[in-house]
Order: sequence, then structure tokens, then C-alpha cells
Amino acid sequence: MVIGVSGIQGDFREHKTMLEKMGIKTMVVRTPEELDKVDGLIIPGGESTTMIRIMKMVNLYDALKAKIETGFPVFGTCAGMILLSNEVTNFKQDSLKAINIKIERNAYGRQVESFETDIEIKGFNSKFRAIFIRAPKVVSYDENIEILATFENSPVLLKQDNILVASFHPELTNDTRVHEYFLNMVKQQ
Ligand code: GLN
Repeated sequence: MVIGVSGIQGDFREHKTMLEKMGIKTMVVRTPEELDKVDGLIIPGGESTTMIRIMKMVNLYDALKAKIETGFPVFGTCAGMILLSNEVTNFKQDSLKAINIKIERNAYGRQVESFETDIEIKGFNSKFRAIFIRAPKVVSYDENIEILATFENSPVLLKQDNILVASFHPELTNDTRVHEYFLNMVKQQ
């Protein structure tokens, strides 16, 4: 099993380091050819406007979108979640339209643009430290989506079939449980 980490922009090195600590083979993905060599892909946090623009420039947008439609497992954190969502507001921008959620960018307000809090995650036997950095908020979602965690009544970890998204940054902690959850999705594929 090889897990790809999109190296277009953002904190992909932190995801890579976490996976390697877990004994997982990784590959930084920047081209459709590299995408074809991995069993699942993580799209990191960063700046979603830049990410989507570059993804289109290097032809990764179409290749990835087509692959996700065939069941390829993807995990997006923060800007990665924005990229995978169906609709983006504040400001409106294009996305991969893979998971049926609507996102408002930078929605947690000025004073608390970045914060940490302990959240409950479905199936985990203790709380998880969630780090939010200018985080996106899920403002609506399709009813068939599985909500794995919420914060202040908004979902922050969601799954739809082969797609997992988090509005926080598990790669910035030492807790590998969310990554393990994604690896299990890849193994079941
Ligand atoms: N605010 C960023 C965006 O809208 C996302 C922040 C992050 O990934 N930490 O793209």
C-alpha cells in the first residue's frame, strides 16, 4: 500500500511525516502519472484557491475527479476539505465536487480564526485534540453523509463512501487515529 499526499501546496510534509511514523509508504503526488501509482490520496491544509488553480494547471484536477468517481479513497483536511466539497462560499470558487457538502471558508470568526479543542469522534474511546486554523465550516450536507464528529453543532469530520474530510488538522498532532481511520478505508477498497 502506498499513500499519496498532494504536494501541490500546503502542509503535505506533516501528513507525510505522520504516515511514515506509522510505517506507511508515501509518495508526494503532483502529476496524473504519480496519482496512478498510489492507493489513496491525502489533500492537506493550505490555501484552497491556490491549490485548485494549480491542480487545473498540472492536469491533476480532471484525473483526480475521475478517479474519485470510481471509488478511489481520498482524505482532505481543511483546504483539502474545501477542495473536495460540492459548493464553496466566501468566496465562491471551483472545487472537485466530490462530497455533497456546502462549505463556508474562514467561517469561525476573526478572534478565533485559529484554536484548539478536544472533540469526540465516533468509534474513538477518548477525545481527539482538534486544531482549527482559519477553518472552513460545513453549512449544509446531504443526509446520506456520515457525521463522525461535530463542534458547536457543525460537522467537522465527515465521510461519504470513499471520501473523508476534516475541517481540522490531525497531522499537526501526534495522534494517528484519524489517519488510521483513513488507512482502513483504503484497505477496504
Ligand atoms: N482558509 C484556508 C482556505 O480557505 C484553509 C485553511 C487551512 O487549510 N488551514 O483555503
